[in-house]
Amino acid sequence: MASQPSSDVIEQRIFDVLAQVPDPEIPAVSIVDLGIVRGVSIDGDQAAVALTPTYSGCPATHAIELAARLALDEAGLEAVTIRTVLSPAWSTEMISAEGREKLRRYGIAPPVESGGPAECPRCGSRDTHEVSRFGSTPCKALWRCNSCSEPFDRFKCH
Ligand SMILES: [Zn+2]
Repeated sequence: MASQPSSDVIEQRIFDVLAQVPDPEIPAVSIVDLGIVRGVSIDGDQAAVALTPTYSGCPATHAIELAARLALDEAGLEAVTIRTVLSPAWSTEMISAEGREKLRRYGIAPPVESGGPAECPRCGSRDTHEVSRFGSTPCKALWRCNSCSEPFDRFKCH
């Protein structure tokens, strides 16, 4: 038997592959950036990826699983299984610092933990207001900045 790569190496490889999978709704960020990839577990020669959808009613959930499956298969990781984990539920706190920065650069206000007004992704002003609970997709709300009067999407999943 050739020596098997260590589980750390496999785990890193899986994360590297999934970091290339864009979120179907916001292609600027990957499913790793958003914290949808909950973790990778290795048990002997069996590796499993845990995915947590952004919210259970999100139509992108199935698309995310399919995209992850496809990426793993293309990387020769057909044996890796994908599990959907609903508890604990996904929250915006799981978005990585890199993910938040990417969202901002993409023109989407990252979630604010305090629940206060959104920060305008263009000028940084907090003088903003919600125009509509429903933005371009179910996961986003439409906001407008009072300072630069630009409309922008705000990520609203919880
Ligand atoms: Zn602004």
